[in-house]
Amino acid sequence: RRAEGPEERRLLELFSYGLMAMGAVSALLLRFIPMPYGRYSSRRFGWLVPARPAWVLQELPSLLVPLGLAACGGAVAAARPNRVLLGCFLLHYAHRALIFPLLIREGKPTPFFTFVLALLFCAFNGYLQGRSLTTYATYPPGWLGGSRFITGFLGWLIGMAINIHSDHILRNLRKPGETGYKIPRGGMFEYVSGANFFGEILEWFGFALACCTIESFAFALCTLFILSSRARQHHKWYLEKFEDYPKDRKIVIPFLY
Ligand code: NDP
Repeated sequence: RRAEGPEERRLLELFSYGLMAMGAVSALLLRFIPMPYGRYSSRRFGWLVPARPAWVLQELPSLLVPLGLAACGGAVAAARPNRVLLGCFLLHYAHRALIFPLLIREGKPTPFFTFVLALLFCAFNGYLQGRSLTTYATYPPGWLGGSRFITGFLGWLIGMAINIHSDHILRNLRKPGETGYKIPRGGMFEYVSGANFFGEILEWFGFALACCTIESFAFALCTLFILSSRARQHHKWYLEKFEDYPKDRKIVIPFLY
């Protein structure tokens, strides 16, 4: 029997504050240690898991957990706004867990520690967003036609398009068999070093506006903390590595940061 009710509602709220705190603490730690995967991958953080299976397995819980919750859901899960919002979340993770890993070329392997952290994060956040949208988030009639939903949905959509397009640019910097790094150019990379991260941040803030739940806002904030730290590391790394790196490029937020 599921523990549905005010106590679980309160628990999800506490988890959301926990997620925000975790994002802030991670951002602090990431000032000293680069997030150990990709170009900063290291055996110091455990044996290395090949990039493709690592991405599939670590991201899959964010797809399967909310799907399972939706399948067992009642009236809230069946409401149209809830189905649309959960659909946005699932679409992102269907791409991240099933399509993105097939597209990456010669990605660096992920240390076991990073892999486990990502897996736990995806299971936890999949539960948090899934449970919120299938059990507790209720919307007034006409929510899908209102300004908050429409603005948020557009932010989510544009963010996802920027994220996918920027990852496509990165992927195509290498010729088959190459493993080195080049200066990314085109698209949002003309403005920021972390164009793929900017897209993902925009996506989850748009989602949070469309959902208007503490759970979705906590996820957006956590994404901002973590991905802006990774973008800052990449930016610094590019400036050290390439003398001709464009000096007017910002870190992750166009024209601002
Ligand atoms: P990176 O930008 O570090 O790398 C993405 C891919 O592009 C890797 O395969 C990488 O190769 C390659 N690449 C990156 N830069 C270059 C370059 N200059 N020249 C050649 N190849 C390059 O992104 P992440 O791996 O950190 O993230 C991948 C996706 O996952 C992003 O869309 C990101 O938004 C998302 N993500 C979301 C998180 C969240 O909290 N929601 C957390 C982390 C990631 P290599 O592996 O060899 O470095």
